[in-house]
Amino acid sequence: MATVVTGSAGFIGRHLVAALRAAGHDVVAVDRRPTAAAPGLRVLRSDLADPDSRVRRALAGADAVFHLAGHPGVRDAGPAAETARHRDNVLATEAVLAHVALDVPLVVTSSSSVYGGSLGEPCREGDPLRPLGGYARSKAAAEAACARRLDQGGVVAVARPFTVIGEGQRADMALARWIAAVDAGAPVTVYGGLHRTRDVTDVRDVVHGLLTMSARRVCGVVNLGTGVGHPLRDLLLAVSAALGREPVAVHHVAAPAGDVDATLADTRRCAARLGFVPRTDLPAVIARQVAARRGRVAVPA
Ligand code: NAD
Repeated sequence: MATVVTGSAGFIGRHLVAALRAAGHDVVAVDRRPTAAAPGLRVLRSDLADPDSRVRRALAGADAVFHLAGHPGVRDAGPAAETARHRDNVLATEAVLAHVALDVPLVVTSSSSVYGGSLGEPCREGDPLRPLGGYARSKAAAEAACARRLDQGGVVAVARPFTVIGEGQRADMALARWIAAVDAGAPVTVYGGLHRTRDVTDVRDVVHGLLTMSARRVCGVVNLGTGVGHPLRDLLLAVSAALGREPVAVHHVAAPAGDVDATLADTRRCAARLGFVPRTDLPAVIARQVAARRGRVAVPA
């Protein structure tokens, strides 16, 4: 029996696969992008919106499944982005749900974006959803499919990670863009102002949270965030400190729809069900991310 990880070639997926392998699990890695080969790892390159027979068999025979594949990013707009999100976030999730046995723990990554931001109070898992853009709507639709599965007796946990940071972060995410810009002596682009706040989560804590959700056969939704909102100004200061240089210029541009002012997790359910609350040491994680960019800290292949 093996553990299946979808989205294995992505930022969080690579960290999760490395952690599973380090813990001695046999892993089947599914992604339409290439996943680096490694001992104890079977790689299936496939599109989950139309899973081939190898993927269907792997899902049906798994002892645990982590579904991370998806089309992330809140800023893409237009019909092509909507089509890609529907395919990768909704259809791919429905396909995974259809092939995993009901009693096998399945952890699906949704997103904090389904809350539509925090209006001052931390966002709780039971709050009504307020998805403001196409990405958030597609994640809410994927969650609805998970809820139907739960009603049928499925062991399904839905993780709502809050902005994930760390080595190997996606190049399109704000922190990675800022590190690249400051490092290159290029202007930094900030959407909506440096006063905005984000609950940011260390990728190591996210991986620990996903593994614990599976090991404890958690059912239902759990936030993966710290309960602390950091002004974007503090993130940029930490980038400058880690790189030892200031941005040459900061360009402010209007935030697109769905790019909210503040995010903040309520952590009580995470504490109760997973037995821990993520804690982000911002300067330390950003220093790790910068060191990885310089090749001084390993990023899982
Ligand atoms: P990523 O883009 O780095 O990884 C996603 C992977 O999924 C990619 O390798 C991609 O090729 C694969 N994929 C997408 N559609 C596929 C399909 N139809 N078939 C097969 N493979 C497919 O993203 P990430 O940052 O690692 O995020 C992982 C998951 O966590 C996503 O579902 C994302 O929406 C969610 N999430 C991420 C964050 C964050 O801050 N990074 C926050 C909240 C939620």
